[in-house]
Amino acid sequence: MTHVVIVGAGFAGLATVSGLSKAGAEVTIIDKKLYSTFQPLLYQVATGGLNPGDIAYPVGGFVGRRKWRRSARYLRGEVASVDAGGQRLKLTGGREVGYDYLILATGVAAAYFGVEGAAENTFGLYTRADAIVLRDHIMNGYERMSGNGERDFNVVVVGGGATGVELAGTLGELRGAVLRATFPDVDPQRVHVRLVEMAPGLLMPFGERLRDYARRQLVGRGVDIRLGTEIKAVRPGSVLLGDGQVLPSDLTVWAAGVAAPAAMAD
Ligand SMILES: Cc1cc2nc3c(=O)[nH]c(=O)nc-3n(C[C@H](O)[C@H](O)[C@H](O)COP(=O)(O)OP(=O)(O)OC[C@H]3O[C@@H](n4cnc5c(N)ncnc54)[C@H](O)[C@@H]3O)c2cc1C
Repeated sequence: MTHVVIVGAGFAGLATVSGLSKAGAEVTIIDKKLYSTFQPLLYQVATGGLNPGDIAYPVGGFVGRRKWRRSARYLRGEVASVDAGGQRLKLTGGREVGYDYLILATGVAAAYFGVEGAAENTFGLYTRADAIVLRDHIMNGYERMSGNGERDFNVVVVGGGATGVELAGTLGELRGAVLRATFPDVDPQRVHVRLVEMAPGLLMPFGERLRDYARRQLVGRGVDIRLGTEIKAVRPGSVLLGDGQVLPSDLTVWAAGVAAPAAMAD
């Protein structure tokens, strides 16, 4: 039987298990994590609407379903290198796995386009761990304001694609409704959510009517939208724009669309 190894148990890897098992192949799916993440709802975890477990499901449970039990298996491990000529890959720790065909479905990592300080001073939203870290920082920001009436909380979201729009919109919603209920002593006007996008519009791949709707929804939630705006540098506590303006930022989220393949160790 042909043995196919799939690295990565995201949407791509799991869909491929299903297709190849039906086609009669023996499939091994390898992931460094025990669970697969439903990325479209990461922003809900980051803003406290969902719990981390709500968007994660165990890979072993998925692969171990009765219909695949004989043809597919899950192996936990991090792929460190691939020997394409020898048709083998090596996991961190040294274990080797042979294959007839190899499918790399390891997802993406953020691209920072060479913006100074972006990698060091921003938070991403690609993994469940990212969402938990971001949530802690958002909640800490509110907690720091509570009992300190003079303090502002500035959030800058970089990127007006789907992730940036969803996140900025939910932060605006939080400020409007949840903040009042949870931190009644915090003045919502002191929470500033700014969305910076280099393109002339939000959600550029979408139709104009939908883009305009999204923009109006964000404005209605008090999000300050900066279109056609380049980010020059991200520093601790501030974001420098292309025109020299400096935005204060206690929390900068990098949601700037295009991403690079997630690298392997080797
Ligand atoms: C915040 C956010 C919101 C989104 N919203 C939407 C949406 O609304 N609608 C939509 O259609 N799409 C959305 N997307 C895009 C969609 O979620 C992704 O395109 C999709 O999840 C990518 O799936 P994937 O299988 O390619 O990669 P991933 O889901 O990233 O899976 C890659 C897997 O590979 C594993 N891995 C990586 N390196 C190694 C290694 N060396 N060894 C072992 N395992 C490894 C990782 O642990 C991970 O489990 C969104 C994405 C994000 C980040």
